[in-house]
Amino acid sequence: MVLYDDKEMIARIDRLRKSRHAVILTHNYQLGEVQDIADFTGDSLELSMIAAKNSAEVIVFCGVRFMAETAAMLAPEKTVLLPVATAGCLMADMADGEALRQLKAQHPGAVTVCYVNSTAAVKAECDLCVTSANAFELVRNIPADREIIFVPDRNLGGNIIRATGRPMIMWDGFCPTHMRITPAMVQARRREFPAAKIIAHPEVRPEVAELCDEVMSTGGMCRYVKSAPCRELIIATESGIIHRLRKENPDLVYIPLSEQIVCPDMKMTRLGDVLRALETMQPRITVPEPLRERAVLPIRRMLEQSARFAPAQ
Ligand code: SF4
Repeated sequence: MVLYDDKEMIARIDRLRKSRHAVILTHNYQLGEVQDIADFTGDSLELSMIAAKNSAEVIVFCGVRFMAETAAMLAPEKTVLLPVATAGCLMADMADGEALRQLKAQHPGAVTVCYVNSTAAVKAECDLCVTSANAFELVRNIPADREIIFVPDRNLGGNIIRATGRPMIMWDGFCPTHMRITPAMVQARRREFPAAKIIAHPEVRPEVAELCDEVMSTGGMCRYVKSAPCRELIIATESGIIHRLRKENPDLVYIPLSEQIVCPDMKMTRLGDVLRALETMQPRITVPEPLRERAVLPIRRMLEQSARFAPAQ
């Protein structure tokens, strides 16, 4: 095996990116070294919009499996690579299609809404997909006389109920990384940095969200800090976002709510994995066509509806 230093690896990635007509999409939670070589870094909504529209022939998705699966469903004619095949999402794996079918049978007529952090088999059972960037608006938009089943994140669901007042039948999933954030941690940071604003991701528990100043997606955080009303910000989400915030707005001070808020799967991908993926064109993510045809529908509905609620850039 030949070992390259980072500079050589980046040069090789750049050459292959051009010759393969590839685009590198990187989630906001990825390691800084991977964010720095990306064509686009963003949250799930931003990256799925790019995957749907981009003209590249190859998408290298630096994130976790459900994200690459979403890209593969939106752009089946493209080659979608997930540099580390085992990078998954524990929350997405907490729901399965068969159990969801059984729940739906108990609530005929309900609108079934899935968080994008779900498998293709779960999406195939759903009417509408949402991300943390658009979930609040899209749920508000569901006719008031319809029951709603929400899968798999009970914390995002709880935060939507808190904000919209819409009752929902909730799946019992959660993000183990965001679950580590407790109300006591928020209160301790607040005492330590009284002038700071605390911004949290809606995957935190509702009782945590209640103690924070703002609750938003990572893409929302990137926009928020551009006109932040303070110099210090406490970040209550996965630590990877701080790399991007610092890079784009270096004059502000970013304090992680806790050093423990790290998703192991989001940290699996290194530069060497991206290079190997481009060299070998593996691991490739595909979704069998009959499943894709059903699972892409709630994602398409989301993209159409969220275009109407897009925040001003
Ligand atoms: S941070 Fe949580 S929701 Fe996001 S990929 Fe990791 S386990 Fe899944």
